[in-house]
Amino acid sequence: MHSNLWVEEVFEDIYGMRFKVEKVLYSQKSEFQTVDVVETKGHGKMLLNDGLVMITERDEFVYHDMITHVPLFVHPNPKKVLVIGGGDGGTAREVLRHAAVEKCVMVEIDKCVIDACIEHIPQTSEVLKGHEKLELIVGDGVKYAKETTEKFDVIIVDSTDPIGPAAPLFGPEFYNDIYSCLSENGIVVSQGESPFFNADVQKSMLEVLNGIFPKVFIYNFSNLSYPGGYWSFTFASKGLEPIKDFDASRVDASKLEFNYYNKGLHTSAFMIPSFHRKHLKGLIQNPETLF
Ligand code: SAM
Repeated sequence: MHSNLWVEEVFEDIYGMRFKVEKVLYSQKSEFQTVDVVETKGHGKMLLNDGLVMITERDEFVYHDMITHVPLFVHPNPKKVLVIGGGDGGTAREVLRHAAVEKCVMVEIDKCVIDACIEHIPQTSEVLKGHEKLELIVGDGVKYAKETTEKFDVIIVDSTDPIGPAAPLFGPEFYNDIYSCLSENGIVVSQGESPFFNADVQKSMLEVLNGIFPKVFIYNFSNLSYPGGYWSFTFASKGLEPIKDFDASRVDASKLEFNYYNKGLHTSAFMIPSFHRKHLKGLIQNPETLF
């Protein structure tokens, strides 16, 4: 049977991305957002929240490698990791590949996302069915960060865009709480939006981080599924730096294999283009050049 169905993500009425859909696998309206899983013709299964592409089977490895392995290879001994959001499971999957990790707590607000991914996207969600080191909490990450007494070596904010329940995840109160939840050498990495389309959101995120953390950086990656393809993560810490404190021999020693991340890319991801550097002047400590 031939399908003429496409999903389109539209950005501010100026730009749209279309993906050919073979079949709609899941479609629900939860308390927080619409949640859809579709089988696409070119990108495998795709998760959309409120019509925005979250992950596709074809390129989820890029996002999940870069949000996870960068901080976990900078921290010398990441025993405890907190993931906020990340309901598809891809980030928790990557965290749990690190032998040093003794416990990963994941706090996702929307059970519907978890259920949809467990049912339809095992590629990312397998660990959500149960893993001895994973504590999966269905709840608000903002509330969790405020109330927990646990300390984490690395916190990963794998959130949707700053709308709805994710809006507070971009604010100062949340990051003050994150600072308190981090251990002495702690690092927080967050989904940092598009350098092209969300320049102002990036600026305000970095202003918030600068008000709280002594070290603030940004790094970029390219994928197939987010508007414009070029995207960022923010990196903030109590002291550790993503290049100076990166011991590349730990990547070899881990014997982990990756499809996107590698030692060279770890460093080069922090070499951001000039337009991006100019825009974020005074807000990041990325090196100008290493050569
Ligand atoms: N890779 C994705 C992206 O950037 O498009 C993010 C994927 S993950 C599915 C994002 C998750 O964050 C969503 O499932 C959403 O429900 C969750 N989320 C949003 N606000 C949250 C909050 N306050 N606490 C916990 N999880 C939250």
